[in-house]
Amino acid sequence: MPRNFCRLRLLGLNLLIALLACGSSYAARTSRTSESSGSLTTVVIDAGHGGHDRGGIPGQRIAEKDMTLDVAQRLRNVLAASGYRVVMSRDSDVFVSLPTRVAIANSYRNAIFVCIHFNATQRSGAGGIETYFYSRDSLQLASAIHSYVAGGAPSSNRGVRRRGFYVLRKTNIPAVLVECGFLTNPTEAAYAGSASYRQKLAEEIAAGVRGRNIVGSASYVDQTKVAKSEHRRSKRSQKKGARKKKSSSKPAGSEARSGSIDRES
Ligand SMILES: [Zn+2]
Repeated sequence: MPRNFCRLRLLGLNLLIALLACGSSYAARTSRTSESSGSLTTVVIDAGHGGHDRGGIPGQRIAEKDMTLDVAQRLRNVLAASGYRVVMSRDSDVFVSLPTRVAIANSYRNAIFVCIHFNATQRSGAGGIETYFYSRDSLQLASAIHSYVAGGAPSSNRGVRRRGFYVLRKTNIPAVLVECGFLTNPTEAAYAGSASYRQKLAEEIAAGVRGRNIVGSASYVDQTKVAKSEHRRSKRSQKKGARKKKSSSKPAGSEARSGSIDRES
C-alpha cells in the first residue's frame, strides 16, 4: 500500500478520533448539565414499611418505618433543592401496599425509584450497607448510590446485589433499594438514631442520584436464585403456619420486610 495513502488514512483516523472525543465530551457535558438542573427527572422516593408494618424483626427497639420515613423526607428536601421533581410513596406513618408503591412509581415517565430501608437480623454483630437492583437498567443507579452511601458511611460495605424484590421486579423505571445499615447492630442503630447521620445518608443518596450517569457500573452479587429458593421456603413455612393458625395473614409489606431481614448469607 502506498505510504501517502497510509498517511492520509492515519490523518483521517486521527480526525475521526478527535471528532468522537469532542462528541462524547459534549454528550457528557450536556448530560451533566441536565443532571445538575434536575429538570428532566422525577425521583419517586419510597420510605419502606409504615403504619402497622414496623419493618425489621419482632422486638426490634428502633422501628424501621420511622427511620426510613425520616431519611426519605430528608432526601426529598435535598433533591428538591437541586431542582428535581420529587414524589413520595408515603409522607407519614401510614401503611402503603407494595402494589400501590409500584403503581405510583410506574405512573411516572423519565423517572427513577429509590426505596429506603434499614436492615435487621438476629445476629447483633451483623452490619453494613447494601444496595439492591433487579433490572439491568437499574445497575448504574444502584452502583452510583451505593458508592456514595457506602463510601461515606463508617459501616462495612456489603456491596451491590441483584435480587427480585417485588418493588424492584415490578417497576418499569430504574429502581433501587438501599439498606442503610442494621438497626439490630448497636453501633449502626446509634448512627441511625442521630439526625446528622440520617441527613448524611440522604445527602449521599442524593449524590448517587445526581451522579448516576457519571459513576460506572459496579460488580455485583446475583442473589436472584437465592431469592427464589427463599421464596419457596417462605411459602412452605406460610402453609405450615396457616395449618397451625388459620387467622394469621401476612401484610402486603411482608415481602419487603422478610427481604430486609438477615441477608448475611
Ligand atoms: Zn425494610
